[in-house]
Amino acid sequence: MNKIIEKDKQHVWHPFTQHFTAETPLIIDKAEGVYLFDSEGNKYIDANSSWWVNVHGHAHPHIAKALTDQFMKLDHTVFAGVTHEKAVELADRITGLLPERMEKVFFSDNGSTAVEIGLKMIVQYWANKGESKQRFLAMNGAYHGDTFGAMSVGQRGYFNRPFEPFFFDVDYIEFPTEENQREVLEHAEKLFSSGEFAGMIVEPLVQGAAGMRMYSPAFLDQLVAIAKKHGVLVIFDEVMTGFGRTGRLFSMDHCTEKADIVTMSKGLTAGVMALGLTVVTDEIYDAFLSKETTKALLHGHSFTANPIACAVACANLDLFERKETWEGIDDIIGWNADFAETLRTIDCVENIRQQGTILAFEIKTGEGNTYFSKMKEKAYDHFLSEGVLIRPLGNVIFVNPPFCIIEDEYMVIRESIETFLNLLTNGDD
Ligand SMILES: *Cc1c(COP(=O)(O)O)cnc(C)c1O
Repeated sequence: MNKIIEKDKQHVWHPFTQHFTAETPLIIDKAEGVYLFDSEGNKYIDANSSWWVNVHGHAHPHIAKALTDQFMKLDHTVFAGVTHEKAVELADRITGLLPERMEKVFFSDNGSTAVEIGLKMIVQYWANKGESKQRFLAMNGAYHGDTFGAMSVGQRGYFNRPFEPFFFDVDYIEFPTEENQREVLEHAEKLFSSGEFAGMIVEPLVQGAAGMRMYSPAFLDQLVAIAKKHGVLVIFDEVMTGFGRTGRLFSMDHCTEKADIVTMSKGLTAGVMALGLTVVTDEIYDAFLSKETTKALLHGHSFTANPIACAVACANLDLFERKETWEGIDDIIGWNADFAETLRTIDCVENIRQQGTILAFEIKTGEGNTYFSKMKEKAYDHFLSEGVLIRPLGNVIFVNPPFCIIEDEYMVIRESIETFLNLLTNGDD
């Protein structure tokens, strides 16, 4: 057995993995552009952008330079009582890209912490104001991360059953469809009318982990308007949707209504460094100002605003100022739309959907959409054998590649999916 695999089996506990039945992991030891290279010299197109984080391809020279320059200048420092250039630059540039009222940035390390902090801010916002509002609204199928608060507002079930007794109470609205939208909005209105709701959290327009499920900006605008009417604070969890994924810089840029809090991670550092941001309005920030220290947000992490991560995030923003990045995004949008047309003609495929650079569809399995569907392993192995790394969510197959992908590379992904669907259709498995 390979030495790395042997030691991995001895000592490493992987995420979302049942090690009793898990297959031997792939050893990836190099990456460049859209390609991942394994230890045996095979290369794979990174069709899901390394767990949805990579936006400009791997080893991008502009990112590499920002990272190494920053390391040589200032690698890390405490961030309480101290500030540094790159954190300030990032906060200034990010707030410049967000709606007018969003002016304050809190730094953490990942998407879950960004959400956790947003929830804590809402709880303490009301506490500081001396109002007892303690209920939260979330959406069925939501995923906001794996820490306790983030799990509490996420979909309950498979992934977190043992923890359920420790979650706080959350009310859920149905995922909106063409048919139920009006009822869902009425449900939200009824709940909010109680005056007991502190906040609401949603993944704007695309629920990632639920299987890239999509809903309309018009629905979100109406939902947020209802929340505003009742003074409910709104979190847009842009951890997955941010940084070009939906065809705009942020998913909320498709909407008219604004959030009070926006969370970011994944694409924030181009998928290179661990960083999370919780960006809030002045109104929220101001509720923490007081002569009493206990009214402050007494929260922080060892690596809060790590300078290297901040420098990389700034370099990422530079790349979003380049026209090539947006041309790359537009190309993917076009190729996705074209592929979607073809998928509509294939019998074993249903629920084809696209939001910008994300294209998703379901394979009819007769057992509904479950994460544990066998389809997942079959599909994963097939794609690998064709030089494509796609990690399906149950029977949902989706494509969300880095924006530097060129047409020939996209076509390799497309053909590998088409040959898989062909195998299924011909019953040859
Ligand atoms: C991935 C994700 C998170 C959690 O982020 P981590 O960095 O994995 O903790 C939160 N919200 C959404 C919408 C996500 O897609």
